[in-house]
Amino acid sequence: MAETPSLITTDLAFDADGVQHGVLRLPHSHDRSAYGFVPIPLTVARHGEGPTVLLTGGVHGDEYEGPIALIRLIRELRLDDLHGRLIIIPMLNVPAVHGATRTSPIDRINLNRTFPGDRNGTPTEMIADYAERVLLPLADYAFDFHAGGSSLDYLPTLFALPPRTPDERQRTEALVAAFAPPRVLYMEALENDRLMSAAARRHGVPFLTGEFGGGATVNREGLAVLERGLAGLLDALGVLRRTTPRGPAGPVRRLAAAGRHYLYAPRPGLFEPRFSLGDEVKTGQLAGFIHDIIQPWLEPVPVTWGADGLVLCVRTFALVEAGDCLGHLGADMA
Ligand SMILES: [Zn+2]
Repeated sequence: MAETPSLITTDLAFDADGVQHGVLRLPHSHDRSAYGFVPIPLTVARHGEGPTVLLTGGVHGDEYEGPIALIRLIRELRLDDLHGRLIIIPMLNVPAVHGATRTSPIDRINLNRTFPGDRNGTPTEMIADYAERVLLPLADYAFDFHAGGSSLDYLPTLFALPPRTPDERQRTEALVAAFAPPRVLYMEALENDRLMSAAARRHGVPFLTGEFGGGATVNREGLAVLERGLAGLLDALGVLRRTTPRGPAGPVRRLAAAGRHYLYAPRPGLFEPRFSLGDEVKTGQLAGFIHDIIQPWLEPVPVTWGADGLVLCVRTFALVEAGDCLGHLGADMA
């Protein structure tokens, strides 16, 4: 840990054997609670020899497959099956979960855009600092589960950082094979240094994330993909013997996404998509129209795809501002 300890504390001992349930105490002094804290539920389980795996969900408060999968893992955890240590935080930004919002209602900050955080910052910045300086240094592996939230809907997809070296490629591909998702996206945007993915890379911790649904609801297929994949990962790492059935063993479709794969609104209005999740599209293909709501008699503005690929993501809200993401593709890797 760095020389100045985090202001977030816990009564749990990360080094103790056994299963401990408790909370991280996030200090939050405000008008109705002068000396109060926000409790962030935490489970630490340690037994036998093996790696430490950090599991997080609820980094965004309107994404639910990750929290539900991790809550179930906590409840069904049997210590005798464990070889190593699990640090499980199903709702890392719990104020955002209470608000059903992407950003925290306390400070309006997006936890996954504020790494490495700030010990003396706002509550969300303090959580990022704690993850960066306390949690990730404890971890041998870190897996953080997302969905599209209120504004996006996703085909359930595992996400990985694009590997930079043959070693990283080999390690990543082994984890992907253990998860056995229907598809994996190697996403350049995960290299953004404000994201938890980049924080994990700073600490040399192998990291996977993923989008398992969206629209602030629970995608049943996505939840099943996530639960089977998580069981496969923990089994392959030797941390937790698999207790759930293996998923259908299909080929993993390997995809990449960079700038040209994203579709943005050029102007405000009502977006009428001409595609669905899972469509295969071509460069120049019509993606939809934006209807003007100030002068609705004007011709709608067409938007077109800038690349070939599989539609992985679509915007949920029809009302758009200029610059809103309308969806994105994944392109098959060679
Ligand atoms: Zn998210």
